[in-house]
Amino acid sequence: MDLGIRGRRALVCASSKGLGRGCAEALAAEGVDLVLNARGAEALEATAEAIRAAHGVEVTAVACDITTEEGRAKVLAAAGDIDILVTNAGGPPPGLWSDWDRDDFIKALDANMLTPIALMTALLPGMIDRGWGRVVNITSQSVKAPIPALGLSNAARTGLTGFVAGTARQVAAKGVNINNLLPGSHDTDRVIALETGVAKAQNVSMEEARKIRLSAIPTGRYGTIEEFGAMCAFLCSEHAGFIVGQNVLLDGGQTNATI
Ligand code: NAP
Repeated sequence: MDLGIRGRRALVCASSKGLGRGCAEALAAEGVDLVLNARGAEALEATAEAIRAAHGVEVTAVACDITTEEGRAKVLAAAGDIDILVTNAGGPPPGLWSDWDRDDFIKALDANMLTPIALMTALLPGMIDRGWGRVVNITSQSVKAPIPALGLSNAARTGLTGFVAGTARQVAAKGVNINNLLPGSHDTDRVIALETGVAKAQNVSMEEARKIRLSAIPTGRYGTIEEFGAMCAFLCSEHAGFIVGQNVLLDGGQTNATI
């Protein structure tokens, strides 16, 4: 299927590795020019070069922390007119409800709620003026069903989801579609961090921790960044114009719910 977005320009945040990279690769495969971002310049440039070589698209790499105001200013200055925005950043650490103080919450809200909102605020006006735009926010399955050890993530991402629910409906008539992609367990560095959390909490080996986590997923495996990227590219496509304010769950069936 031709996604109809060849020649469009996308900003994919936090994209040198993991789910962000999966989205960047899938968009590049459709002929979309990219602005990529991550903090580590070396890995980011390596990813940018690999994507240029594989897909022949234009790739601008901006190394900075997207959760800071300075970082966002740097990315937005380099980005220019953006048709497609994929928001993403590292997730907050696991813990117990009593571990966190106000500063921890402010940090999580900044990274996983206020940063995507700031990027939408900056880029939606241009999309609306041009009459076409797509936004995909990478959130988490924890929006549908809480993950008890991820209280900071549960809180921040649910806040973003509420913002998107209303805003998506305000901009839909302008040709701009905003949706969220909710990853369940995908095989990225983040999974190693979560497995380490399980190993520590249950006093088991890393191998045992992986088995415990996989046993909760009906597919019996983690998702891949390619599968994740493919869904992201579809939500950014010409065909997704009637999909508004949705929360698309990619979790191998782990969330045990009928709808
Ligand atoms: P990952 O494999 O660790 O990759 C994270 C990417 O984001 C890297 O490129 C990293 O590069 C970049 N990054 C992190 N913090 C950044 C920042 N402040 N500014 C700019 N770039 C930043 O993580 P992932 O698994 O793809 O996860 C992506 C998001 O999805 C996270 O919020 C995670 O919590 C959420 N999520 C993931 C899963 C999963 O199973 N993988 C499940 C649910 C939710 P640098 O470190 O160089 O900056």
